[in-house]
Amino acid sequence: MITNNKRHLDEFGRTSQAEFVVELTELSVALDLPPPTKETFLVNKKFPLLVPKNFLARIQKGNINDPLLKQIIPAAAELHSPTNFSTDPLDEATYNPLPGLLHKYQDRVLILLTNNCVTNCRYCFRREFSYRNNTMNENNWQKILQYLNQHSNIQEVILSGGDPLTINNHWLEKYIADLATIHHLNTFRIHSRVPIMLPSRIEPSLIKLLTATRLKPVLVTHCNHPNEIDNTVTQAFNKFIGNNITLLNQSVLLKDVNDHVDILTELSRKLFTVGILPYYLHMHDKVIGTAHFGVSKNKAKRLIKELAAKLPGYLVPRLVQEKPGYPCKCPL
Ligand SMILES: *Cc1c(COP(=O)(O)O)cnc(C)c1O
Ligand code: SF4
Repeated sequence: MITNNKRHLDEFGRTSQAEFVVELTELSVALDLPPPTKETFLVNKKFPLLVPKNFLARIQKGNINDPLLKQIIPAAAELHSPTNFSTDPLDEATYNPLPGLLHKYQDRVLILLTNNCVTNCRYCFRREFSYRNNTMNENNWQKILQYLNQHSNIQEVILSGGDPLTINNHWLEKYIADLATIHHLNTFRIHSRVPIMLPSRIEPSLIKLLTATRLKPVLVTHCNHPNEIDNTVTQAFNKFIGNNITLLNQSVLLKDVNDHVDILTELSRKLFTVGILPYYLHMHDKVIGTAHFGVSKNKAKRLIKELAAKLPGYLVPRLVQEKPGYPCKCPL
């Protein structure tokens, strides 16, 4: 989600070497798709198209059902949501003690470092999240550090957003250095879709800063379909070899994208070949505009059973659902 966030404006100085597609017509032309409709223009006004140009090479031309395309193209179906869909189905506002901080689980907190992403995923569960009250600035950051200092049960900090890897190295380094001064923290984790969507961002300088701290680094990528892992992604992850970073992946189970056992099997195997272990397979959350991505609980459970019969245990992600009030991601 691109919005004004002055503190991080320079982060796009960093990634602006990458080109993005933001025009519906440009997307249609580039991928040999039918021209956009009135309805898709309407959808686009609310939650605009945003995709790095390099990602288009992984989408099959002329195929409106391409599983990668579906994740990024504004669709008329987003205009129709059942009444039980809301803007904040996870009730995140309840666990928001300070602007930019979510404290839901005992020993770890999640920090919304930025509202920027390098892509707008159509199924995003934070597409309606109130980032306006959660923008990061020096004042909010200092308050968060104070909160962390006062809560000695917290061991791990998760940098999320938006996407924390849209922040430039200089700022990332500063955030991590500040966290490292808090003695009871031992781990920091980054949740990011950038390594998949914009693998050129994974530079030696980034890896160096992630490992140049006393805190143990964990990187949780976000990949939903094996086609997302091409040569450029493989090369990016090769750079992690020999570095002490734990690499995990989370996916969202999405109708007509990855709700098939063969696709999930291939995804797990491909992740493993680039050094990543599958972590979570999330049930999709009931956020307005995303109903057409929903997969039923029964189907999800069946898929995970079939997957477990095909793969070693360590390649089977945990199927989970977010439930407000539950002490962890709720296993299905
Ligand atoms: C998902 C999430 C976490 C991390 O949970 P893990 O099970 O450790 O991956 C932490 N805080 C919040 C608010 C979350 O939504
Ligand atoms: S799913 Fe993640 S990367 Fe995609 S738009 Fe939402 S926050 Fe950004």
